Formats: sequence, C-alpha cells, structure tokens
Amino acid sequence: MSKVRIGVVGLGFFAQNQLEAWRVIEGAEIAAVCDRDPAKVEAARRRYGVERGYTDVAQMLADDVVDAVDVATTPPSHRAIVEQVAQAGKAVICQKPMAETLEDARAMVEACRRAGVSLTVHENFRFQRPMREVAMLLREGAIGEPFFARISFRTPYDVFANQPYLATEDRFIILDLGIHLLDLARCFMGDARDVSCWTKRVNPNIQGEDVATMVLDHGNGRTSIVDCSYATHQVPDPWPQTLVTLEGSKGTISLGADYRLHVTRGAETVTRHVPPKAWPWSQLPFDIIQDSVVALQQHWLGCYRAGRAAETSGEDNLKVVELVHTAYADADRRK
Ligand code: NAD
Repeated sequence: MSKVRIGVVGLGFFAQNQLEAWRVIEGAEIAAVCDRDPAKVEAARRRYGVERGYTDVAQMLADDVVDAVDVATTPPSHRAIVEQVAQAGKAVICQKPMAETLEDARAMVEACRRAGVSLTVHENFRFQRPMREVAMLLREGAIGEPFFARISFRTPYDVFANQPYLATEDRFIILDLGIHLLDLARCFMGDARDVSCWTKRVNPNIQGEDVATMVLDHGNGRTSIVDCSYATHQVPDPWPQTLVTLEGSKGTISLGADYRLHVTRGAETVTRHVPPKAWPWSQLPFDIIQDSVVALQQHWLGCYRAGRAAETSGEDNLKVVELVHTAYADADRRK
C-alpha cells in the first residue's frame, strides 16, 4: 500500500511535534513542508529530510505533491488555508482552535463538506494515554452512570516563552487551553447543553484572561466543572498534566498527578500507573502531549484509509468551538 503523502503547513513551535510524529507513523510520509518564513522551510527540509519546501500553500497545492495537508499555523490563518486545501480536493487536519470565531469555524466545516473532503481538528488532549484509559473505563461501566466531572489544569508555567503571541490576544486561556478541557468534558460526559463561566486576568502583562472556571450542564442533572489557570503558584508544578475526577453511580475515577489512575468502588481502590509512551524526541514533562500527537495522527491515518470521519472531525469540534464562545459570552455578561 502506498504511503499517504502529507504536506505540513506552519513550521513553528508546535509543528515540530507533528513532524516528528509523522516520521514514526508507518503508512504516512512528509511529502512537503510549507511556511511563509523561508528559513523555517529550509530548517524543516534539512531536519526532517523532506525534498519539497514551499513558502506559499497555493504553490504546494498546485504542484499536486500531497494527499492531505496538516495545518499547524496560528489561528488567524486557519480558515483561508483550510478553504484553499478543500478547494484543491485534499483532506485537511487543522490545529486547534479551528478558528477564533464561530462564523469562521462554521464556514470551514461547510467548505470541506461542499468539497467532499474530510476536516479533522488536531484536538489531541483526548488522545493522551491516561484520557484514553479513563474513556475506556467509562465505556466498560467501571463507575456506572457518571453524574459529575472535574477537569482541571492549573499551573504557574510561563506559556508565553514559547508562544509569545498568546500574551497579546484579547481572548487567551479558554480559546487556547480551555478548549482542550471542554472537549475532554464532552468526551467523558457527552455533549453539554449550556455553560456558565467566570474569568479573570491575574498576570498584568498579558491582554486576555489567564484564569477561567466553567460549569457545564450535560442534561439530566449531570454536571462538569472545567477549571484552568496559568496564574497558580503551586509546587510541584503539574504542567502539562490535566487532572480528572469522574463520579458515577457505582464508583469514582480519579486521574492524579504523575499519571496515577485510581478507580474506587465502595471501600476498595485500585491504582494503576498510566504514563505516556516515550519517543526518541520526547522531552519530559512534555512527553504526555508529544505522545498524544502521535496517537491523534495515527487515528487520523486509520480513518483516512477507511474513508470514515475521525473522532475529532470538524463537525464534532464545532460543538467545542460553540462551548468556547458560549463561555466567553456568559463571562462577559457577568462582568
Ligand atoms: P508559531 O507561531 O510558533 O508557528 C506558526 C507558524 O505558522 C510560523 O512559523 C508562521 O510563520 C507560520 N504561518 C503563519 N501563517 C502562515 C501562512 N498563512 N502560511 C504559511 N505559514 C504561516 O505557533 P505555534 O505556537 O506553533 O501554534 C501553532 C498552532 O498550534 C496554533 O493553532 C496553536 O493553538 C496550536 N498548538 C497546539 C497545541 C496542542 O497541544 N494541540 C500546543 C501548542 C500550540
């Protein structure tokens, strides 16, 4: 079977994980790399041994050297690139957040639907190994019917060192990080029909909010608390781990620090260690994120070959984008 030819667009901070991941995934190859910055194109070509490099997506598409395009640029460029790729009839994977506005996200899903190409959002948190284990336990009925979830990510980590553009965004933590946690809440508890939200900016040197607390209504009395902060003084710093508690009619699942997964039923608790897989490029403690990138891209490849939608399809992810904007609207109303 011939390899699926991937074109990676956007060769900045996070794309390095995607490029490393494509290299270890059997059945796919990086056929082209593209960035508007020619120095990044040259660096990626050399580092990943890619023959073709471009500074313009249109040129890469015109040369017809890829089957699918993996978009790892910053959000303002996502809609235009995804629409271009869809028009060229190629499958597209787009980094989260799919778009900054609901209008753009809906247009992207519609453009791909009209063109008959698949759109997958690179929403990788649900592909973290411990999250897969939690989802499996839920499916197996380990805690009965879940009625409460808490999904928490709190850290003093300086995220702006690698991603300085985040400091100048009017909307920061929900759009950039909370979106992952909202997706996890959906993954574990099902779709939410409403969200209440409170936000705060603690760091005076940034533009947007760096603390958010959200309460989700999943219907039938089922709720989730999703909380995130880049302003939490905490030792040890759990970054970049997400901590999870799920309470059900028959027990509780708790994912604690250092990938300790506890399942409690009555007076009995069983604890397992569920760390991420280590890859040659893994960097502790970012390994949990890096392994989830491989898992997502592997999942995408299986779906692409089978001609079915990925778990994090554009249509599915639209529900997360809707939650993000409902949360911001609710937080604004409270102010
Ligand atoms: P970055 O600024 O480091 O890299 C973006 C790159 O895209 C830059 O090299 C820039 O030159 C290039 N670019 C921008 N517009 C372009 C265009 N129109 N054509 C070609 N190249 C273009 O950004 P980053 O921090 O790597 O973030 C990229 C994306 O990855 C964002 O959507 C971000 O939210 C996401 N991200 C995801 C995770 C995760 O865990 N899933 C983590 C970090 C970042």
